[in-house]
Amino acid sequence: MLKNLLDTSADISSKLMSRLAFCGEAASVYGERPRIVLDLLIKQGMSIWLIMIIVMALSFFVQHMLQSRFHKYSQVRLGNGMSGADVARKMLQDNGIYDVKVVSVQGTLTDHYNPATKTVNLSGSVYSGCSVAAAAVAAHECGHAVQHAVGYAPLRMRSALVPVVSFASNIVQWILLLGVLMINVFPGLLWFGIALFAMTTLFSIITLPVEINASMRAVNWLNSAGITDYRTSPLAVDALKWAAYTYVIAAIGSIATLLYYIGLARRD
Ligand SMILES: [Zn+2]
Repeated sequence: MLKNLLDTSADISSKLMSRLAFCGEAASVYGERPRIVLDLLIKQGMSIWLIMIIVMALSFFVQHMLQSRFHKYSQVRLGNGMSGADVARKMLQDNGIYDVKVVSVQGTLTDHYNPATKTVNLSGSVYSGCSVAAAAVAAHECGHAVQHAVGYAPLRMRSALVPVVSFASNIVQWILLLGVLMINVFPGLLWFGIALFAMTTLFSIITLPVEINASMRAVNWLNSAGITDYRTSPLAVDALKWAAYTYVIAAIGSIATLLYYIGLARRD
């Protein structure tokens, strides 16, 4: 009876193995090894899935909070009636930056500073909006322009990583997948994938000081220039705080994924 049960379960698992084309093929060539790899994938997979679900839930929550705060603070008008574009131009001027243009771009949440073209790109609602939210975003993007002008080290490091990361992010998922499937034949491939992925993780970590510092520059200037007051300043701080959390969550997710792959490669 017990033997039958064991046989049946072995049969089911062998069928499962053969369903997975790659593993099934490898099973006949490498015997027990793929089974160990499959077990590892399942075991490690469960813990990484748990972490990933927590990260995704947190990310969803933070995105929701960010959007609701921005919506709320975009209803709060600045006392002086300045638009996001006005705020941006004044902040650049006050920081002695005269070679950066402030332009309007399509879309929502598309605001960014482009160091290559020296432009502060503001979405329509931020560019022409006269709210605390618009001022906060405009000042934050100018914070990046100031970082660029003063040669802020983390921004320089992040810019240096851009070509590597854009190359890595195109192929890293495929290299990691192939690396896992070929772990017995060519373990070096998984480590190569891990090295590529580590670059994207490093990028997401370096992004943290860059973003937080830009927001701090924004808030300090908004206060000192009298754009925000005792009533509106806490709102600008709150909006930028939720924006920063999205980067923190992204970095945590990236670190968790990196550790998962390292664990997979080392256990073999
Ligand atoms: Zn930013």
